[in-house]
Amino acid sequence: MVEEPLLYKMKKIKNYIDGKLVSPFENSYIKNYEPRTGKVYSLIPESKNKDVENAIKAAKKAFVKWKNTTKEKRAEFLIAIANEIEKQKEKFIKAESRDNGKPEWLAAKVDIPRASQNLKFFASAILNYESKFHEMDNSAINYTLKQPVGVAGCISPWNLPLYLFTWKIAPALITGNTVVAKPSEITPMTAYMFSELCIKVGLPKGVLNIVHGYGEVVGEYLTKHVDVPIISFTGGTETGKKIANNTSKMFKKVSLELGGKNPNIIFDDCDLNLALDYTIKASFTNQGQICLCGSRIFIQKKIYNQFKKNLIKKTSALKVGDPKNKKNFLGAVVSKDHMNKILEKINLAKKEGGKILTGGKRKIIKGELKEGYYIEPTIIENLKNDSFINQEEVFGPVVCIIPFENEKDVIKLANDTKYGLSSSIFTKDIDKAHRVSREINSGIVWINSWMIRDLRIPFGGMKQSGVGREGGFKSLDFFTETKNVCIKIN
Ligand code: NAD
Repeated sequence: MVEEPLLYKMKKIKNYIDGKLVSPFENSYIKNYEPRTGKVYSLIPESKNKDVENAIKAAKKAFVKWKNTTKEKRAEFLIAIANEIEKQKEKFIKAESRDNGKPEWLAAKVDIPRASQNLKFFASAILNYESKFHEMDNSAINYTLKQPVGVAGCISPWNLPLYLFTWKIAPALITGNTVVAKPSEITPMTAYMFSELCIKVGLPKGVLNIVHGYGEVVGEYLTKHVDVPIISFTGGTETGKKIANNTSKMFKKVSLELGGKNPNIIFDDCDLNLALDYTIKASFTNQGQICLCGSRIFIQKKIYNQFKKNLIKKTSALKVGDPKNKKNFLGAVVSKDHMNKILEKINLAKKEGGKILTGGKRKIIKGELKEGYYIEPTIIENLKNDSFINQEEVFGPVVCIIPFENEKDVIKLANDTKYGLSSSIFTKDIDKAHRVSREINSGIVWINSWMIRDLRIPFGGMKQSGVGREGGFKSLDFFTETKNVCIKIN
Protein backbone atom coordinates (compact mmCIF):
# COMPACT_ATOMS: atom_id res chain seq x y z
CA MET A 1 0.00 0.00 0.00
CA VAL A 2 1.02 3.60 -0.54
CA GLU A 3 2.21 5.40 2.57
CA GLU A 4 -0.22 8.17 3.52
CA PRO A 5 2.39 10.99 3.25
CA LEU A 6 3.05 10.01 -0.36
CA LEU A 7 -0.56 10.81 -1.19
CA TYR A 8 0.28 14.50 -0.94
CA LYS A 9 2.74 14.16 -3.80
CA MET A 10 0.22 12.47 -6.07
CA LYS A 11 -1.47 13.92 -9.12
CA LYS A 12 -4.65 15.69 -8.11
CA ILE A 13 -7.44 15.65 -10.66
CA LYS A 14 -9.36 18.92 -10.86
CA ASN A 15 -12.92 19.88 -11.59
CA TYR A 16 -13.58 21.84 -14.78
CA ILE A 17 -15.96 24.67 -13.95
CA ASP A 18 -16.64 27.87 -15.87
CA GLY A 19 -13.73 27.23 -18.23
CA LYS A 20 -11.14 26.68 -15.49
CA LEU A 21 -9.55 23.70 -13.76
CA VAL A 22 -10.35 24.15 -10.08
CA SER A 23 -9.82 22.29 -6.81
CA PRO A 24 -12.89 21.11 -4.92
CA PHE A 25 -14.30 23.74 -2.59
CA GLU A 26 -13.54 21.77 0.61
CA ASN A 27 -10.20 20.57 -0.75
CA SER A 28 -11.01 16.94 0.05
CA TYR A 29 -10.07 14.05 -2.21
CA ILE A 30 -10.89 10.40 -2.88
CA LYS A 31 -8.10 7.89 -3.53
CA ASN A 32 -7.92 6.65 -7.10
CA TYR A 33 -6.73 3.03 -7.37
CA GLU A 34 -4.95 1.44 -10.29
CA PRO A 35 -6.69 -1.94 -10.79
CA ARG A 36 -3.55 -3.40 -12.41
CA THR A 37 -1.55 -3.15 -9.16
CA GLY A 38 -4.20 -2.39 -6.53
CA LYS A 39 -2.26 0.74 -5.56
CA VAL A 40 -3.38 4.35 -5.22
CA TYR A 41 -1.99 6.47 -8.05
CA SER A 42 -3.93 9.75 -8.05
CA LEU A 43 -6.53 11.72 -6.15
CA ILE A 44 -10.06 12.59 -7.21
CA PRO A 45 -11.93 15.71 -6.05
CA GLU A 46 -14.55 14.84 -3.46
CA SER A 47 -16.87 17.60 -4.65
CA LYS A 48 -19.76 18.82 -2.56
CA ASN A 49 -23.02 20.62 -3.28
CA LYS A 50 -21.28 23.99 -3.55
CA ASP A 51 -19.00 22.72 -6.37
CA VAL A 52 -22.00 21.40 -8.29
CA GLU A 53 -23.89 24.63 -7.64
CA ASN A 54 -21.02 26.64 -9.15
CA ALA A 55 -20.98 24.38 -12.19
CA ILE A 56 -24.75 24.69 -12.70
CA LYS A 57 -24.53 28.50 -12.37
CA ALA A 58 -21.74 28.63 -14.96
CA ALA A 59 -23.69 26.35 -17.33
CA LYS A 60 -26.86 28.41 -16.92
CA LYS A 61 -25.00 31.61 -17.74
CA ALA A 62 -23.24 30.09 -20.74
CA PHE A 63 -26.53 28.70 -22.14
CA VAL A 64 -27.71 32.18 -23.17
CA LYS A 65 -24.92 32.49 -25.74
CA TRP A 66 -24.31 28.83 -26.62
CA LYS A 67 -27.92 28.15 -27.64
CA ASN A 68 -27.57 30.94 -30.21
CA THR A 69 -24.17 29.81 -31.49
CA THR A 70 -24.58 28.30 -34.97
CA LYS A 71 -24.52 24.54 -35.25
CA GLU A 72 -21.58 24.79 -37.62
CA LYS A 73 -19.58 26.61 -34.94
CA ARG A 74 -20.59 24.13 -32.22
CA ALA A 75 -19.57 21.32 -34.59
CA GLU A 76 -16.17 22.95 -35.09
CA PHE A 77 -15.48 22.76 -31.36
CA LEU A 78 -16.43 19.08 -31.14
CA ILE A 79 -14.29 18.24 -34.16
CA ALA A 80 -11.35 20.17 -32.71
CA ILE A 81 -11.58 18.19 -29.45
CA ALA A 82 -11.91 14.91 -31.39
CA ASN A 83 -8.78 15.78 -33.39
CA GLU A 84 -6.89 16.45 -30.16
CA ILE A 85 -7.94 13.05 -28.78
CA GLU A 86 -6.65 11.44 -31.96
CA LYS A 87 -3.36 13.36 -31.74
CA GLN A 88 -2.91 12.27 -28.12
CA LYS A 89 -4.40 8.82 -28.51
CA GLU A 90 -1.46 6.92 -26.98
CA LYS A 91 -1.73 9.02 -23.83
CA PHE A 92 -5.50 8.47 -23.65
CA ILE A 93 -5.20 4.70 -24.26
CA LYS A 94 -2.68 4.29 -21.45
CA ALA A 95 -4.70 6.49 -19.09
CA GLU A 96 -7.97 4.62 -19.74
CA SER A 97 -6.31 1.26 -19.20
CA ARG A 98 -4.55 2.41 -16.03
CA ASP A 99 -7.72 3.88 -14.53
CA ASN A 100 -10.05 1.02 -15.44
CA GLY A 101 -7.87 -2.11 -15.59
CA LYS A 102 -8.93 -2.93 -19.17
CA PRO A 103 -6.25 -4.18 -21.59
CA GLU A 104 -4.49 -1.42 -23.50
CA TRP A 105 -5.26 -3.24 -26.78
CA LEU A 106 -8.98 -2.92 -25.99
CA ALA A 107 -8.77 0.78 -25.13
CA ALA A 108 -6.86 1.23 -28.41
CA LYS A 109 -9.38 -0.76 -30.45
CA VAL A 110 -12.63 0.41 -28.87
CA ASP A 111 -12.70 3.08 -26.16
CA ILE A 112 -10.51 5.87 -27.46
CA PRO A 113 -11.32 5.72 -31.19
CA ARG A 114 -14.99 5.53 -30.30
CA ALA A 115 -14.72 8.63 -28.06
CA SER A 116 -13.48 10.76 -30.95
CA GLN A 117 -15.98 9.10 -33.34
CA ASN A 118 -18.84 10.06 -31.00
CA LEU A 119 -17.80 13.72 -31.18
CA LYS A 120 -17.37 13.68 -34.96
CA PHE A 121 -20.56 11.71 -35.53
CA PHE A 122 -22.79 14.19 -33.65
CA ALA A 123 -20.94 17.14 -35.20
CA SER A 124 -22.05 15.77 -38.57
CA ALA A 125 -25.49 14.44 -37.50
CA ILE A 126 -26.70 17.90 -36.48
CA LEU A 127 -26.05 19.20 -39.99
CA ASN A 128 -28.32 16.45 -41.35
CA TYR A 129 -31.04 16.83 -38.75
CA GLU A 130 -34.18 17.94 -40.61
CA SER A 131 -37.08 20.03 -39.35
CA LYS A 132 -40.61 18.74 -39.96
CA PHE A 133 -43.19 20.65 -41.95
CA HIS A 134 -46.93 19.85 -42.13
CA GLU A 135 -49.26 21.52 -44.56
CA MET A 136 -53.05 21.57 -43.88
CA ASP A 137 -54.58 21.90 -47.36
CA ASN A 138 -54.87 25.63 -47.96
CA SER A 139 -55.72 26.62 -44.42
CA ALA A 140 -52.49 26.45 -42.39
CA ILE A 141 -48.89 25.36 -42.31
CA ASN A 142 -47.00 23.93 -39.35
CA TYR A 143 -43.30 23.79 -38.79
CA THR A 144 -41.57 22.09 -35.91
CA LEU A 145 -38.68 23.59 -34.01
CA LYS A 146 -36.16 21.47 -32.11
CA GLN A 147 -34.73 23.69 -29.41
CA PRO A 148 -32.15 23.08 -26.69
CA VAL A 149 -33.57 22.27 -23.27
CA GLY A 150 -31.11 24.12 -21.01
CA VAL A 151 -28.50 22.78 -18.60
CA ALA A 152 -28.16 19.04 -19.17
CA GLY A 153 -26.91 16.69 -16.44
CA CYS A 154 -24.88 13.83 -17.95
CA ILE A 155 -23.94 11.01 -15.56
CA SER A 156 -21.73 8.18 -16.81
CA PRO A 157 -20.37 4.86 -15.45
CA TRP A 158 -16.89 3.32 -15.14
CA ASN A 159 -16.99 0.44 -17.60
CA LEU A 160 -16.43 2.44 -20.82
CA PRO A 161 -15.40 5.75 -19.28
CA LEU A 162 -14.57 8.16 -22.11
CA TYR A 163 -16.68 6.23 -24.64
CA LEU A 164 -19.91 6.73 -22.67
CA PHE A 165 -18.98 10.20 -21.40
CA THR A 166 -18.64 11.49 -24.99
CA TRP A 167 -21.75 9.53 -26.11
CA LYS A 168 -23.76 11.79 -23.80
CA ILE A 169 -22.07 15.15 -23.87
CA ALA A 170 -21.63 15.29 -27.67
CA PRO A 171 -25.36 15.24 -28.56
CA ALA A 172 -26.16 17.45 -25.56
CA LEU A 173 -23.69 20.15 -26.62
CA ILE A 174 -24.30 19.99 -30.36
CA THR A 175 -28.03 20.66 -29.89
CA GLY A 176 -27.20 23.85 -27.95
CA ASN A 177 -27.53 22.71 -24.36
CA THR A 178 -24.81 23.44 -21.86
CA VAL A 179 -23.68 20.56 -19.69
CA VAL A 180 -22.72 19.60 -16.17
CA ALA A 181 -21.15 16.16 -16.48
CA LYS A 182 -20.41 13.72 -13.69
CA PRO A 183 -18.01 10.92 -14.64
CA SER A 184 -17.70 7.86 -12.43
CA GLU A 185 -15.60 8.45 -9.32
CA ILE A 186 -13.95 5.09 -10.05
CA THR A 187 -12.58 6.10 -13.47
CA PRO A 188 -12.27 9.92 -13.65
CA MET A 189 -8.93 10.30 -15.44
CA THR A 190 -9.83 10.52 -19.13
CA ALA A 191 -12.71 12.92 -18.40
CA TYR A 192 -10.18 15.12 -16.61
CA MET A 193 -7.85 14.91 -19.62
CA PHE A 194 -10.83 15.78 -21.79
CA SER A 195 -11.35 19.00 -19.80
CA GLU A 196 -7.75 19.97 -20.59
CA LEU A 197 -8.56 19.57 -24.29
CA CYS A 198 -11.64 21.80 -23.98
CA ILE A 199 -9.40 24.55 -22.62
CA LYS A 200 -6.86 23.94 -25.38
CA VAL A 201 -9.40 24.31 -28.21
CA GLY A 202 -11.01 27.37 -26.57
CA LEU A 203 -14.47 25.95 -25.83
CA PRO A 204 -16.37 28.94 -24.37
CA LYS A 205 -16.39 28.94 -20.59
CA GLY A 206 -19.30 27.31 -18.81
CA VAL A 207 -20.47 25.38 -21.89
CA LEU A 208 -19.15 22.09 -20.47
CA ASN A 209 -18.48 21.64 -16.76
CA ILE A 210 -17.10 18.43 -15.26
CA VAL A 211 -17.60 17.79 -11.55
CA HIS A 212 -15.93 14.77 -9.95
CA GLY A 213 -17.01 13.04 -6.77
CA TYR A 214 -19.43 10.53 -5.26
CA GLY A 215 -22.69 9.75 -7.04
CA GLU A 216 -24.76 10.09 -3.87
CA VAL A 217 -23.51 13.67 -3.49
CA VAL A 218 -22.67 15.18 -6.90
CA GLY A 219 -25.06 13.00 -8.93
CA GLU A 220 -27.97 13.42 -6.53
CA TYR A 221 -27.55 17.18 -6.27
CA LEU A 222 -27.52 17.40 -10.06
CA THR A 223 -30.61 15.24 -10.56
CA LYS A 224 -32.58 17.13 -7.89
CA HIS A 225 -31.62 20.62 -9.04
CA VAL A 226 -34.38 22.83 -10.39
CA ASP A 227 -32.06 24.44 -12.97
CA VAL A 228 -31.18 21.11 -14.58
CA PRO A 229 -34.28 20.13 -16.57
CA ILE A 230 -32.77 17.15 -18.42
CA ILE A 231 -30.77 14.15 -17.21
CA SER A 232 -29.04 11.48 -19.25
CA PHE A 233 -27.85 8.60 -17.10
CA THR A 234 -26.00 5.38 -17.80
CA GLY A 235 -25.34 3.05 -14.89
CA GLY A 236 -26.89 0.43 -12.64
CA THR A 237 -30.64 -0.26 -12.40
CA GLU A 238 -30.77 0.49 -8.65
CA THR A 239 -29.17 3.93 -9.22
CA GLY A 240 -31.56 4.44 -12.13
CA LYS A 241 -34.50 3.88 -9.78
CA LYS A 242 -33.21 6.59 -7.41
CA ILE A 243 -32.78 8.99 -10.33
CA ALA A 244 -36.27 8.21 -11.65
CA ASN A 245 -37.61 9.00 -8.17
CA ASN A 246 -35.66 12.23 -7.80
CA THR A 247 -36.52 13.57 -11.24
CA SER A 248 -40.17 12.53 -11.56
CA LYS A 249 -41.35 15.12 -9.05
CA MET A 250 -40.04 17.83 -11.37
CA PHE A 251 -41.10 16.09 -14.61
CA LYS A 252 -37.56 16.34 -15.97
CA LYS A 253 -36.67 14.84 -19.32
CA VAL A 254 -34.83 11.65 -18.38
CA SER A 255 -33.03 8.97 -20.32
CA LEU A 256 -31.93 5.89 -18.36
CA GLU A 257 -29.54 3.31 -19.82
CA LEU A 258 -29.32 0.57 -17.19
CA GLY A 259 -28.20 -3.00 -16.50
CA GLY A 260 -28.75 -6.24 -18.40
CA LYS A 261 -28.78 -10.02 -18.06
CA ASN A 262 -28.51 -10.75 -21.73
CA PRO A 263 -29.27 -14.10 -23.37
CA ASN A 264 -26.96 -15.63 -25.91
CA ILE A 265 -28.93 -18.30 -27.82
CA ILE A 266 -27.09 -21.07 -29.67
CA PHE A 267 -29.35 -23.16 -31.91
CA ASP A 268 -28.14 -26.58 -33.08
CA ASP A 269 -28.18 -25.47 -36.74
CA CYS A 270 -25.71 -22.61 -36.22
CA ASP A 271 -22.18 -22.16 -37.52
CA LEU A 272 -20.51 -23.61 -34.41
CA ASN A 273 -17.15 -21.89 -34.82
CA LEU A 274 -18.73 -18.50 -35.38
CA ALA A 275 -21.06 -18.96 -32.39
CA LEU A 276 -18.12 -20.01 -30.24
CA ASP A 277 -15.98 -17.01 -31.22
CA TYR A 278 -18.77 -14.54 -30.53
CA THR A 279 -19.74 -16.27 -27.29
CA ILE A 280 -16.19 -15.84 -25.99
CA LYS A 281 -16.22 -12.14 -26.93
CA ALA A 282 -19.71 -11.53 -25.54
CA SER A 283 -18.81 -13.27 -22.29
CA PHE A 284 -15.36 -11.94 -21.46
CA THR A 285 -14.56 -8.73 -23.37
CA ASN A 286 -13.67 -5.95 -20.91
CA GLN A 287 -13.64 -8.63 -18.18
CA GLY A 288 -17.39 -9.11 -18.76
CA GLN A 289 -18.01 -5.53 -17.70
CA ILE A 290 -20.11 -4.34 -20.64
CA CYS A 291 -23.84 -3.89 -20.19
CA LEU A 292 -24.26 -5.81 -23.49
CA CYS A 293 -22.26 -8.88 -22.43
CA GLY A 294 -24.16 -12.15 -22.82
CA SER A 295 -24.12 -13.85 -19.43
CA ARG A 296 -26.85 -16.46 -19.90
CA ILE A 297 -25.76 -18.86 -22.63
CA PHE A 298 -28.62 -21.06 -23.84
CA ILE A 299 -27.42 -24.06 -25.86
CA GLN A 300 -29.77 -26.39 -27.73
CA LYS A 301 -29.65 -29.92 -26.29
CA LYS A 302 -28.38 -31.73 -29.41
CA ILE A 303 -25.13 -29.72 -29.43
CA TYR A 304 -24.94 -28.98 -25.69
CA ASN A 305 -22.08 -31.34 -24.80
CA GLN A 306 -19.99 -30.53 -27.85
CA PHE A 307 -20.42 -26.76 -27.50
CA LYS A 308 -19.76 -26.91 -23.76
CA LYS A 309 -16.51 -28.84 -24.34
CA ASN A 310 -15.30 -26.33 -26.92
CA LEU A 311 -16.34 -23.35 -24.79
CA ILE A 312 -14.45 -24.67 -21.75
CA LYS A 313 -11.37 -25.36 -23.86
CA LYS A 314 -11.32 -21.91 -25.40
CA THR A 315 -12.15 -20.10 -22.15
CA SER A 316 -9.50 -21.86 -20.10
CA ALA A 317 -6.93 -20.91 -22.76
CA LEU A 318 -7.72 -17.18 -22.42
CA LYS A 319 -4.88 -15.27 -20.83
CA VAL A 320 -5.58 -13.03 -17.84
CA GLY A 321 -3.02 -10.57 -16.57
CA ASP A 322 -1.15 -7.34 -17.10
CA PRO A 323 -3.35 -4.94 -19.13
CA LYS A 324 -0.16 -3.67 -20.80
CA ASN A 325 0.58 -7.07 -22.34
CA LYS A 326 -1.35 -7.50 -25.58
CA LYS A 327 -1.37 -11.28 -25.24
CA ASN A 328 -3.81 -10.99 -22.34
CA PHE A 329 -7.45 -11.09 -23.39
CA LEU A 330 -8.54 -10.08 -19.89
CA GLY A 331 -7.01 -7.41 -17.69
CA ALA A 332 -8.10 -6.47 -14.16
CA VAL A 333 -11.66 -5.79 -13.01
CA VAL A 334 -12.28 -2.21 -12.01
CA SER A 335 -11.95 -2.19 -8.20
CA LYS A 336 -11.31 -4.33 -5.15
CA ASP A 337 -14.88 -3.81 -4.04
CA HIS A 338 -16.23 -4.92 -7.41
CA MET A 339 -13.87 -7.92 -7.50
CA ASN A 340 -15.13 -9.06 -4.09
CA LYS A 341 -18.75 -8.67 -5.21
CA ILE A 342 -18.09 -10.87 -8.27
CA LEU A 343 -16.36 -13.53 -6.14
CA GLU A 344 -19.27 -13.47 -3.66
CA LYS A 345 -21.73 -14.05 -6.51
CA ILE A 346 -19.66 -17.02 -7.73
CA ASN A 347 -19.78 -18.47 -4.20
CA LEU A 348 -23.50 -17.96 -4.02
CA ALA A 349 -23.90 -19.77 -7.34
CA LYS A 350 -21.91 -22.69 -5.89
CA LYS A 351 -24.16 -22.75 -2.83
CA GLU A 352 -27.21 -22.88 -5.11
CA GLY A 353 -25.75 -26.04 -6.70
CA GLY A 354 -23.79 -24.46 -9.57
CA LYS A 355 -20.88 -26.48 -10.95
CA ILE A 356 -17.81 -24.44 -11.89
CA LEU A 357 -16.57 -25.78 -15.24
CA THR A 358 -13.56 -23.48 -15.43
CA GLY A 359 -12.26 -20.47 -13.49
CA GLY A 360 -14.19 -19.43 -10.38
CA LYS A 361 -11.31 -17.78 -8.52
CA ARG A 362 -9.25 -14.65 -8.13
CA LYS A 363 -5.99 -14.87 -10.02
CA ILE A 364 -2.93 -13.78 -8.09
CA ILE A 365 -0.07 -12.66 -10.28
CA LYS A 366 3.40 -12.59 -8.75
CA GLY A 367 5.48 -9.45 -8.38
CA GLU A 368 4.28 -5.90 -8.98
CA LEU A 369 0.75 -7.05 -9.88
CA LYS A 370 0.15 -9.27 -6.84
CA GLU A 371 -2.48 -6.94 -5.36
CA GLY A 372 -4.20 -6.33 -8.72
CA TYR A 373 -7.84 -7.30 -9.22
CA TYR A 374 -7.73 -10.28 -11.55
CA ILE A 375 -10.46 -12.92 -11.91
CA GLU A 376 -10.30 -16.10 -13.99
CA PRO A 377 -12.95 -16.28 -16.74
CA THR A 378 -15.64 -18.48 -15.27
CA ILE A 379 -18.28 -20.82 -16.68
CA ILE A 380 -20.99 -22.23 -14.43
CA GLU A 381 -23.38 -25.09 -15.20
CA ASN A 382 -26.27 -26.80 -13.50
CA LEU A 383 -28.30 -23.77 -12.47
CA LYS A 384 -31.83 -23.02 -13.55
CA ASN A 385 -32.75 -19.73 -15.17
CA ASP A 386 -34.51 -18.62 -11.97
CA SER A 387 -31.34 -18.98 -9.83
CA PHE A 388 -29.82 -15.83 -8.35
CA ILE A 389 -26.87 -15.73 -10.74
CA ASN A 390 -29.12 -16.04 -13.80
CA GLN A 391 -31.38 -13.23 -12.65
CA GLU A 392 -28.96 -10.66 -11.20
CA GLU A 393 -26.29 -8.79 -13.12
CA VAL A 394 -22.76 -9.96 -12.15
CA PHE A 395 -20.91 -7.55 -14.44
CA GLY A 396 -17.76 -9.64 -14.41
CA PRO A 397 -16.15 -12.53 -16.35
CA VAL A 398 -18.81 -15.02 -15.26
CA VAL A 399 -21.34 -16.83 -17.46
CA CYS A 400 -23.81 -19.69 -17.01
CA ILE A 401 -24.65 -22.32 -19.60
CA ILE A 402 -28.19 -23.69 -19.76
CA PRO A 403 -29.57 -26.36 -22.13
CA PHE A 404 -32.86 -25.85 -23.99
CA GLU A 405 -35.23 -28.05 -26.03
CA ASN A 406 -36.70 -25.87 -28.76
CA GLU A 407 -37.49 -22.38 -30.07
CA LYS A 408 -40.55 -21.91 -27.87
CA ASP A 409 -38.73 -22.91 -24.67
CA VAL A 410 -35.75 -20.68 -25.29
CA ILE A 411 -37.88 -17.60 -26.00
CA LYS A 412 -39.61 -18.15 -22.65
CA LEU A 413 -36.31 -18.61 -20.83
CA ALA A 414 -34.66 -15.62 -22.52
CA ASN A 415 -37.54 -13.34 -21.56
CA ASP A 416 -37.78 -14.65 -18.02
CA THR A 417 -35.80 -11.82 -16.39
CA LYS A 418 -36.50 -8.30 -15.21
CA TYR A 419 -33.99 -6.97 -17.76
CA GLY A 420 -34.30 -6.46 -21.53
CA LEU A 421 -31.19 -4.84 -22.93
CA SER A 422 -29.69 -7.02 -25.65
CA SER A 423 -29.58 -10.56 -27.01
CA SER A 424 -27.70 -12.67 -29.57
CA ILE A 425 -29.13 -15.49 -31.68
CA PHE A 426 -26.98 -18.02 -33.53
CA THR A 427 -28.64 -20.04 -36.31
CA LYS A 428 -28.30 -20.54 -40.07
CA ASP A 429 -32.10 -20.55 -40.42
CA ILE A 430 -32.88 -16.93 -41.27
CA ASP A 431 -36.65 -17.38 -40.79
CA LYS A 432 -36.08 -18.70 -37.30
CA ALA A 433 -33.70 -15.82 -36.55
CA HIS A 434 -36.37 -13.29 -37.55
CA ARG A 435 -39.11 -15.11 -35.61
CA VAL A 436 -37.06 -15.24 -32.43
CA SER A 437 -35.93 -11.59 -32.81
CA ARG A 438 -39.54 -10.47 -32.86
CA GLU A 439 -40.38 -12.43 -29.70
CA ILE A 440 -37.39 -11.48 -27.56
CA ASN A 441 -37.99 -8.59 -25.20
CA SER A 442 -34.76 -6.65 -25.63
CA GLY A 443 -33.89 -3.31 -27.16
CA ILE A 444 -31.15 -4.79 -29.34
CA VAL A 445 -30.95 -8.19 -31.06
CA TRP A 446 -27.85 -9.42 -32.83
CA ILE A 447 -28.10 -12.29 -35.30
CA ASN A 448 -24.94 -14.39 -35.68
CA SER A 449 -22.94 -11.62 -34.06
CA TRP A 450 -22.45 -9.44 -31.00
CA MET A 451 -21.76 -5.77 -30.34
CA ILE A 452 -21.73 -4.48 -33.89
CA ARG A 453 -22.50 -0.83 -33.20
CA ASP A 454 -23.69 1.63 -35.84
CA LEU A 455 -23.86 5.09 -34.27
CA ARG A 456 -27.10 5.86 -36.13
CA ILE A 457 -29.18 3.09 -34.56
CA PRO A 458 -31.54 3.52 -31.60
CA PHE A 459 -29.91 2.20 -28.45
CA GLY A 460 -31.56 1.33 -25.14
CA GLY A 461 -33.34 -1.29 -23.11
CA MET A 462 -36.79 -2.61 -22.26
CA LYS A 463 -38.14 -3.41 -18.78
CA GLN A 464 -35.62 -2.60 -16.03
CA SER A 465 -32.81 -2.10 -18.55
CA GLY A 466 -33.89 1.44 -19.13
CA VAL A 467 -36.23 4.13 -20.29
CA GLY A 468 -35.93 5.85 -23.66
CA ARG A 469 -33.57 5.41 -26.58
CA GLU A 470 -30.37 7.25 -27.42
CA GLY A 471 -28.14 7.01 -30.50
CA GLY A 472 -28.24 8.85 -33.83
CA PHE A 473 -31.18 11.23 -34.25
CA LYS A 474 -32.79 9.70 -31.13
CA SER A 475 -30.10 11.43 -29.06
CA LEU A 476 -30.75 14.72 -30.86
CA ASP A 477 -34.49 14.27 -30.22
CA PHE A 478 -33.84 13.58 -26.56
CA PHE A 479 -31.66 16.63 -26.01
CA THR A 480 -34.17 19.00 -27.66
CA GLU A 481 -37.62 20.30 -26.89
CA THR A 482 -40.09 19.94 -29.75
CA LYS A 483 -42.15 23.02 -30.50
CA ASN A 484 -44.76 23.26 -33.23
CA VAL A 485 -45.49 26.63 -34.82
CA CYS A 486 -48.76 26.90 -36.74
CA ILE A 487 -49.45 29.69 -39.26
CA LYS A 488 -52.99 30.25 -40.53
CA ILE A 489 -53.25 31.05 -44.22
CA ASN A 490 -55.94 33.65 -44.86
P1 NAD B 1 -23.59 3.15 -10.93
O1 NAD B 1 -25.07 3.20 -11.09
O2 NAD B 1 -23.04 2.74 -9.62
O3 NAD B 1 -22.91 4.55 -11.25
C1 NAD B 1 -23.10 5.22 -12.48
C2 NAD B 1 -22.91 6.71 -12.27
O4 NAD B 1 -23.95 7.18 -11.43
C3 NAD B 1 -21.60 7.08 -11.57
O5 NAD B 1 -21.10 8.27 -12.12
C4 NAD B 1 -22.05 7.29 -10.13
O6 NAD B 1 -21.21 8.16 -9.41
C5 NAD B 1 -23.42 7.92 -10.33
N1 NAD B 1 -24.34 7.78 -9.20
C6 NAD B 1 -24.30 6.87 -8.19
N2 NAD B 1 -25.32 7.07 -7.33
C7 NAD B 1 -26.02 8.13 -7.80
C8 NAD B 1 -27.19 8.82 -7.36
N3 NAD B 1 -27.82 8.44 -6.27
N4 NAD B 1 -27.63 9.85 -8.11
C9 NAD B 1 -27.01 10.22 -9.24
N5 NAD B 1 -25.88 9.63 -9.71
C10 NAD B 1 -25.40 8.58 -9.00
O7 NAD B 1 -23.08 2.21 -12.11
P2 NAD B 1 -21.59 1.72 -12.36
O8 NAD B 1 -21.28 0.68 -11.33
O9 NAD B 1 -20.69 2.88 -12.55
O10 NAD B 1 -21.73 1.03 -13.81
C11 NAD B 1 -22.12 -0.28 -13.99
C12 NAD B 1 -23.58 -0.39 -14.35
O11 NAD B 1 -23.85 0.42 -15.49
C13 NAD B 1 -24.00 -1.78 -14.74
O12 NAD B 1 -25.24 -2.07 -14.15
C14 NAD B 1 -24.14 -1.72 -16.25
O13 NAD B 1 -25.00 -2.66 -16.82
C15 NAD B 1 -24.62 -0.33 -16.43
N6 NAD B 1 -24.35 0.15 -17.79
C16 NAD B 1 -25.40 0.28 -18.66
C17 NAD B 1 -25.17 0.69 -19.96
C18 NAD B 1 -26.30 0.86 -20.94
O14 NAD B 1 -26.09 1.51 -21.96
N7 NAD B 1 -27.49 0.34 -20.68
C19 NAD B 1 -23.86 0.97 -20.38
C20 NAD B 1 -22.81 0.81 -19.47
C21 NAD B 1 -23.07 0.41 -18.18
